[in-house]
Amino acid sequence: MVSKKIPCDHFVINIIKEVLKKRHIVQSQEDLTFLVLDKLKKYDKKFVLSPRRVRKLVIKIPNIEIKAKTKRSPKMKKLDKCPVCKRKVNKIYGKNLLNKKIHIGYICKRCGYTTDLNSLMPMKYLFIWKRKNKSLFSK
Ligand SMILES: [Zn+2]
Repeated sequence: MVSKKIPCDHFVINIIKEVLKKRHIVQSQEDLTFLVLDKLKKYDKKFVLSPRRVRKLVIKIPNIEIKAKTKRSPKMKKLDKCPVCKRKVNKIYGKNLLNKKIHIGYICKRCGYTTDLNSLMPMKYLFIWKRKNKSLFSK
């Protein structure tokens, strides 16, 4: 069995900062994880890192802005009444990857009709290094 090592938060945060400072922008959660893990492995080849953890840590870094790109489908439409039984439908909410409550679909509580707006879910994340506080971080 290959042993794995979990790098500590502080260490990963420093590497994330390093990567984003250099690149300014990273186009996806997966790319960011790959870049960070690549650097981590220079310290120890056993280090492992999940995209989920990277995102959680990024949220703690005030210098990094996360932008979610949402893809909208043209067939998505507002629904007031259940198409099956004509009762008023309720909205279904879920959480997106940034832990924000978002509207994801409709449910009819009488007949159980549901529709979900998967097309409203964010498709892509951008990680942007903000350079506003550069004086605080200058070497
Ligand atoms: Zn119904």
